[in-house]
Parts: sequence; structure tokens; C-alpha cells
Amino acid sequence: MIELTLPAVAEASEPFVTRLRAGRCDVSGNDDSLLCGEDDAGVTFAGAHGLLAIDGLSAADLDGDVVLVQPDGGRIERLLRAGSPHNTLLVTERCDQLCVMCSQPPKKTHVDRFALLEQACLLAEPDIVIGISGGEPTLYKDELLGMIERVLAQRPDLAFHVLTNGQHFAQEDIERLRDPVYAQVLWGIPLYARAAALHDAIVGKAGAFARLEESLAHLLLSGARVELRTVLLSDNLAALPALARYIATRLRFIHAWSIMQLEHVGFARNRWAKLYVPHSQDFAPVAAALDHAKLHGVPARLFNFPRCTVPRPYRYLAAASISDWKRKYVPACDGCTERDACTGFFEWHPDSATEGVHPL
Ligand code: SF4
Repeated sequence: MIELTLPAVAEASEPFVTRLRAGRCDVSGNDDSLLCGEDDAGVTFAGAHGLLAIDGLSAADLDGDVVLVQPDGGRIERLLRAGSPHNTLLVTERCDQLCVMCSQPPKKTHVDRFALLEQACLLAEPDIVIGISGGEPTLYKDELLGMIERVLAQRPDLAFHVLTNGQHFAQEDIERLRDPVYAQVLWGIPLYARAAALHDAIVGKAGAFARLEESLAHLLLSGARVELRTVLLSDNLAALPALARYIATRLRFIHAWSIMQLEHVGFARNRWAKLYVPHSQDFAPVAAALDHAKLHGVPARLFNFPRCTVPRPYRYLAAASISDWKRKYVPACDGCTERDACTGFFEWHPDSATEGVHPL
């Protein structure tokens, strides 16, 4: 696993954002910290905020990373890793849903880091997509939209992918979301079932489905780009074909529909036996949903599905979706010729749930 936080000591007393540079002094600005020493324990950088010593990785590993330095906590967060397509900024840990399989169980408190995260975005490498997640980012909708708008005004080469529960878009947002900068934003929104009662039960909030439908109408009217996300659960497996019909009928405007295999973390960890669907043993409901989506022009895809566990006719839909920092392959993958295109497994995926895995 790739470490996203590292122990560090800084001269500064307040949190700050900086870009680490190893041997590229010619491109330095006030936001850069330049390498000034390296030994077996770690590396030292110097910049406008003073000295910064980081343990655990080499200068080459950190070169180009945009990091948030937390002097109080004695650590850095690697917010934007150079060369990685998997950079996600956590804007809050609060949420107003309580999904049965939540991978990042919410907290009651919120630490406002929008100004620091905005600084980080402005230092991003060219042409990348920056993920935004939580918690629920739109609990701080005005701060979120303000950050997106200011960043994209200065950095039109960037794009954002925002994970949101879709509970907070309102009529008055429509004009704002029609701004051309939002062509660079993709909203990833979970939808678990066509039946309101089942969706509400999965997200742990009465009325969530009805409120989501309202938000989707506002997003449609604003011309927003929407990706629907459906985590596969034993609760909604049989309801997947009905959900496909609903999406094909009512939500044809979406950019993509991602059907996602479960992640063994957060609440799903203790509920694994109840929630996990061994899809390689019964792919029929997923296949029926994919067939209907294709027939009606809905661009569906499979996330977190190892390629060899998906029947051949649907394998092209299995994207390499697991972020590099939390991806692993298992011993059964040895010798597989499709590993580079395969999503593999989450680092914390149980070895007992690798049924159907075989090298291709
Ligand atoms: S053997 Fe491993 S790398 Fe190959 S397709 Fe299966 S899960 Fe992916």
C-alpha cells in the first residue's frame, strides 16, 4: 500500500500547503519547498515556511507531491501525488446519511480545510482530475462550489470528480451550476434501488430517494454531468434489473452508471457475510442490468470487479477502478497477462473472498 500520511517535523507552527521539489530548483516558486538533504531516515526540504523534515520516503518518491503539513500533528498528508491518477481530497467527515456499507463512517465534527485544499488544487500537475469526497461534501455546498469555481477559473486544465449523496441540490443552484466551469465537474451520486424503501434502508435515511430525485431534476436542468453509482449488495442484487429499467427510462441524461463491488472496510467489515455478493457465482442479475443498460444506450461499467471473475462478454466493462494506493493482487494472480488492465483487489480485501480468481 502507498502511504498517504507520513511523520514529519516542521519549523512552522500553522498548517500549510507546499509542493515538494527534488533537484528541480529552476521551477521553484513561493509555494515550493526545495530538497536540501536526504539520508536513510528521510528527507529535508526548505521553503517559504521554513524547514520541513519528512520520514519514510525518499526525495524521488516525494518529488512533485503537493502536501498539507500539519505541524501540530507531526505529519504531512500527500494531497496530490505526482504522476498518480488517483488523488482525492477529503473535504469533511460529516454526513447526513448512514449507509449500511459506508467505507468512511462519518464523524460529528468538521474541520474546515477548504482554503488549504484550494491552494493545493492550484499547485496540481496539469490536466488532472481531482477527486472530492467526504463525508458529504455538499453539507458545505457554498464553500465547495466556491472552491471549484475559483480553481477552475485559474486552472481550466483541471477537472473535478465529486462524490455526493445528492441530498442538497436545490432550485436556486440551477443557474449557478450552468456556469461553463461545471463542464469540468462530474458528480458521482449513489443510487441503490428503484424502490424508495429499499434505497432509503440502504442509505439509512427516510425520504432520501425522493430527495435524490429532486436533486437529479435540478442537475438535469443545470446540464450537470452525473455518474450514478450502485454498490452491489445482497440487499439490492435482485433489484438491479429494475434499477436498470428505471435509469434507462427516467435518467437517460447521465454520463455513466457504475456498478461497484463492495469494499471490505468501514461498516462493511462487520457486515461482510450479510452484504457481500460473490458475483462470479451468480452474475445473472448484473448481466441482466448491463444488457438493459446497453440496449437503451446507458453507458454502464463495472468498478472493483477483477477481470477474471466477470464472464467474458462483460469483461470489457470491468474498469481498473481501485486507486493505486490501496490496490493489491493476490497469489492467484501470478502469471496473469491482464494484470495491468485489471482492478485487482482492495488492500484490505479478505483472502477468503477471491472465489473465481484465475490468471488470464
Ligand atoms: S488473475 Fe488477478 S490480475 Fe488477472 S484478471 Fe484475475 S484478479 Fe485480475
